[in-house]
Amino acid sequence: MNEMKMSFSSKQENEPFARTALIAFLMPLNPDVEEIMELKTMIAEALTNAMIHGYEGREDGCVEVCVRYEESGMVDIIVKDEGCGIADVELAMQPLYTSKAYLERSGMGMTIMSTFADEFHVESSAGAGCIVHLRKQLHGQSEFAL
Ligand code: ATP
Ligand code: MG
Repeated sequence: MNEMKMSFSSKQENEPFARTALIAFLMPLNPDVEEIMELKTMIAEALTNAMIHGYEGREDGCVEVCVRYEESGMVDIIVKDEGCGIADVELAMQPLYTSKAYLERSGMGMTIMSTFADEFHVESSAGAGCIVHLRKQLHGQSEFAL
């Protein structure tokens, strides 16, 4: 088992940093190109949600990412914010549901995460922040390393 945690300000420019750090940490598992693309997309969606919805664009919030993997290639990613939370998680997870249509969001982030992850859970309630748990089994095909 190997594990890492990072926490950073809810600033948009930290999203590419966190995405890159996640992939670098998982390199010992030799993810293939498709797995890398799916991991990057999942974490980007979770982080964007934390920043845009959880902290509503405020840049003084704290976003936490915990990543753990087993040598079998099983990866667990947790993205946590202490923002406004979600009153109705079931509704928020519906495809095309967005509370910010005026920002031209498409309401597909949750659906994308649940498609690319093998397991996907969202723990949240109004005012209580949000914890997103993504689990994915990697198969380790890539010949390339960082
Ligand atoms: P898109 O991801 O396509 O840009 P979106 O972010 O609105 O649009 P989802 O990612 O599916 O769509 O999220 C659905 C809704 O769940 C959001 O509109 C928002 O209301 C709520 N939500 C998601 N993540 C959070 C969060 N971390 N904190 C508070 N609300 C959230
Ligand atoms: Mg989203």
